[in-house]
Amino acid sequence: MTSEEFDQLRIKLPQWVEESRRHGTEGKVASYIPELSKAPIEALGIHILDGQGRSISAGDCSLSFTMQSISKVFTLILALLDNGEEAVFSKVGMEPTGDNFNSMLKLELVQPGIPFNPLINAGAIAISSLIAGEHSLDKSARVLHFFRMLAGNDTLDYDYDVYRSESETANLNRSMAYLLKDNGVLEGEVEEVLDVYFRHCSINVTCADLASMALVLSSDGVNPRTGKQLIPRRYVQIAKTFMTTCGMYNASGEFAIQVGLPAKSGVSGGILTMVPGKYGIGLVGPSLNRKGNSIAGVDLLQTMSQHFDWSLF
Ligand code: GLU
Repeated sequence: MTSEEFDQLRIKLPQWVEESRRHGTEGKVASYIPELSKAPIEALGIHILDGQGRSISAGDCSLSFTMQSISKVFTLILALLDNGEEAVFSKVGMEPTGDNFNSMLKLELVQPGIPFNPLINAGAIAISSLIAGEHSLDKSARVLHFFRMLAGNDTLDYDYDVYRSESETANLNRSMAYLLKDNGVLEGEVEEVLDVYFRHCSINVTCADLASMALVLSSDGVNPRTGKQLIPRRYVQIAKTFMTTCGMYNASGEFAIQVGLPAKSGVSGGILTMVPGKYGIGLVGPSLNRKGNSIAGVDLLQTMSQHFDWSLF
């Protein structure tokens, strides 16, 4: 990558952040998990990391927030490591749905009643049941350990307030999980599986943590700082493909056209994305658009991608 591009980014980013931040007022902070509604609506922060360890951050990059759906990318990878491709794709499909992330419509309508992909809630709950471990706490400890390793941050932990808030109000996810159990998709006890899922959604991060995790994906599974292969290339390829086709909920097509990078968003307003072979990027902007994506975050990514011609397509 050119140093010139990185230098330009460093100069332009603060102003771009302030321009995109204004769009925050057009959206809403998620409130269906009550604890998430406390997030600052006007916040926008970003951290960009390259393979040589250089970084740029701008805006509210010290804000911590829960990973929510962003965690689904990495639990998918862990489930692939634990079970292999064949077993994983006997429980979840490979197709976008066009439905909301928390829809259970197709679980009834389309046989054999397996979730369409691992990034919608139903798919991620099925993936949680595939994580190896004796019981839910054991599985969750393995997930947390894996995330810490990818982020290079041993202090990553749960936000227990968000975890409890989600667990207490997750009627829709609960009904979906019981339906999946009935369809023969879920292994193990439903409440245990849900506990693994709620915990990984509640892992607290900063933009810098997301950028480190993204950098591993952008480098085909290698930690560029140590040269160590942390994830097999094939699994990174699978994860990046799902991020491109389903990562931005049912706005993934629009995002592919406007930004053109693999990305995953979460209802906390976080987005993990990357410029493959160049940068890992983490950002947060808690104000969401109607599709559930950070409104200012998507705007900022669009500005950067179009300016530097980052689209993969
Ligand atoms: N924990 C959230 C839920 O299950 C994740 C949703 C999201 O970020 O899209 O509803």
